[in-house]
Amino acid sequence: MIIKNILVINSGSSTIKFQLIDICKKKRKIRGMVERIGNNPVIEYDFDGRKVKRKVKAKNHEEALKIIINCLLKSKVIKDFSEIDAVGHRVVHGGEKHIKPTIITNRIIKDIEKFSDLAPLHNPSNLKGIIILRKILNVPQVAIFDTAFHGNMPKESYLYGLPLEFYKKFKIRRYGFHGTSHKYVSREAIKILKKMKKSYKKIVTCHIGNGISLTAVLNGKSVDTSMGFTPLEGVLMGTRSGSFDPAIIEFLNKKGYTTKEIIDIANKKSGLLGISGINNDMRVLLKSKNERAKLAINMFVYSIVKYIGAYAAAMNGLDAIVFTAGIGEHSSKIRRMICDHFKFLGLNIDDKKNNKNNIIISTKDSKITALVIPTNEELQIALETKEVLKKTKR
Ligand code: AMP
Repeated sequence: MIIKNILVINSGSSTIKFQLIDICKKKRKIRGMVERIGNNPVIEYDFDGRKVKRKVKAKNHEEALKIIINCLLKSKVIKDFSEIDAVGHRVVHGGEKHIKPTIITNRIIKDIEKFSDLAPLHNPSNLKGIIILRKILNVPQVAIFDTAFHGNMPKESYLYGLPLEFYKKFKIRRYGFHGTSHKYVSREAIKILKKMKKSYKKIVTCHIGNGISLTAVLNGKSVDTSMGFTPLEGVLMGTRSGSFDPAIIEFLNKKGYTTKEIIDIANKKSGLLGISGINNDMRVLLKSKNERAKLAINMFVYSIVKYIGAYAAAMNGLDAIVFTAGIGEHSSKIRRMICDHFKFLGLNIDDKKNNKNNIIISTKDSKITALVIPTNEELQIALETKEVLKKTKR
């Protein structure tokens, strides 16, 4: 059977994003999302250069998914459901067990349910999408786990300095996230660097959006990453604090904050937002003359620089830095600020190329290559869906 059209689904708590990808041509046919499910929902999609946005009646995930499937027909990107060959689902947490794309069976559904313990905000919503679409479409469905790319990190990177029993009993360890994005951009970077006859073994990929994570990619594999047991760890982000001393939690407990409140503040009211007191949107902060906005930007850059430096040491060298996601792809100023810290290693940025968001933004003679690669998690999910189905006799 030829696998051509793959529907990629990212089912979140109140939003379901979708894309239909012609995997033979690696081309997107349509993309869109249903937002605010259950609360004045709207569907937004674009195809053939056309954009559509309208209110819909979607009380729950099931109704939203039916609307999405019908929208594929209405927009005429497919004539019949039989033209959908497979579905690739983004699943946030695969635990230690699922570090490869996996065809979804009842057993896999039980596993995803089990790992909801580790990703209570994400896995249950991902699972809803899977269970409903299995009822609507009779095609193979594949789970692509966001933690998978980091699944082969060495023990010294993924263990915390807590008693080993915590890992053995409760599986407390660094899992890492944004794996599909890090995998996609590192693969693309390696292809480009090979063509340019540049070194490509030691790469740091920087996914810098509202959520941020950095990954040390050694010989194409993730060997360390900044997010940890949850996406809260690591660098300072849009609304997340990144790492801080956990003893602060007990200190704040004594001041009247519950642990839940503190974790909530650390996830939703910290980072750029908490420091600036203005906004978590980098565009707003970059325009602002406010001192706290400047401080937030400086802390943001500094925390990213520290991780890149640490990973360069961990890999015993640095061949390339890759920038991706909202800020990484679009803010030449932030890229410049970060890269300036690595002049001592021979990284030189070409301002003209950087200002144009070119793919290569370093100078020809730079010892380290800096690249801007737009992430494409959906394409990576579709590619992996096809790959796993090709390998499996059905
Ligand atoms: P993402 O999570 O990848 O969608 O990234 C979202 C973030 O990208 C937003 O919060 C913005 O702060 C940031 N962003 C998008 N465009 C720009 C830009 N031109 N300059 C600076 N930041 C940007």
